[in-house]
Amino acid sequence: MSYVGPDFDPPQPRRSALRRPLTVAVTAVVVGAVAGWGVWQAVGDSGGGDDGSDGAAVPQTRSATTPPASSDPSSSGDGDDKAASPSGSASAPAATGPLKGKVVVIDPGHNPGNFQHTTEINRKVNIGTAMKECDTTGTTTNDGYMEAKFTLDVSRRLRTLLQQQGATVKFTQDGDRNWGPCIDERARIGNEAKADAVVSIHADGSGAGNRGFHVILPGSVNEGDADTRPIVAPSSDLGERIAGYFVRATGSAPSNYVGDGTGLVTRTDLGGLNLSTVPKVFIECGNMRDSKDAALLTSGAWRQKAARGISDGITSFLEN
Ligand code: ZN
Repeated sequence: MSYVGPDFDPPQPRRSALRRPLTVAVTAVVVGAVAGWGVWQAVGDSGGGDDGSDGAAVPQTRSATTPPASSDPSSSGDGDDKAASPSGSASAPAATGPLKGKVVVIDPGHNPGNFQHTTEINRKVNIGTAMKECDTTGTTTNDGYMEAKFTLDVSRRLRTLLQQQGATVKFTQDGDRNWGPCIDERARIGNEAKADAVVSIHADGSGAGNRGFHVILPGSVNEGDADTRPIVAPSSDLGERIAGYFVRATGSAPSNYVGDGTGLVTRTDLGGLNLSTVPKVFIECGNMRDSKDAALLTSGAWRQKAARGISDGITSFLEN
């Protein structure tokens, strides 16, 4: 679990027998991304620590200013609370574009209000393979910047970018409800929208020194209301593209603590994935509890890059 390197620990190709990250140039990574990242390995269930285990944290007060999607380089991490549209609403101002006719559901992880609604979010819901808490608070940086604020901000930036490509975008929540929704409802929103792609936005709450992003792919599950078998392959494709373009847009390294340097992790314990019937992945954009990652996550300019990477990955998936 130690931090492997100061700057960049690139993923390893699937075919490599090495279990440590290879030293390759970012440009090589980008080539892999453009090619679909297909040779890269998804490694299972090493546990990112985010889903329900990323700790209680203290909500903070913050300004209510939405930065323009293309700027805000000096933001300290706040300002994602305006410009809310009704949850689940579709808005697609662009009538044309490569994603015209495509539906993308964005799931901003957690909810800033969850801290005040612990009874509601601790209620158990059925995720097919288990009963699990309805929702969780998410983590924070050591300075108190909430994951639930981060997820909304990145999601809104992502929405703008996808709409510019002509996509119809729906949210599972947009800061417009007091808590939740529950993870089963989050999945249902994507399913009922017949989404072409769904992405759940998160940041992790792991130990200091653990750095980098990872994309979580649904593992094969067929139990109760969960049957991910039809979505495993397309979700893997979606996730590999997002990981590749995320590297290109942010310059961030794949996680140095899960995924063996691939930036990809497969899990079967997440209700939001288990209950999805449409291609879906989670992305943990970084580790809020590491000071170097936190410096990125709290930067509006970096969040814009993150949104760009995710948008490019989704666009690549939907165009192919
Ligand atoms: Zn989370």
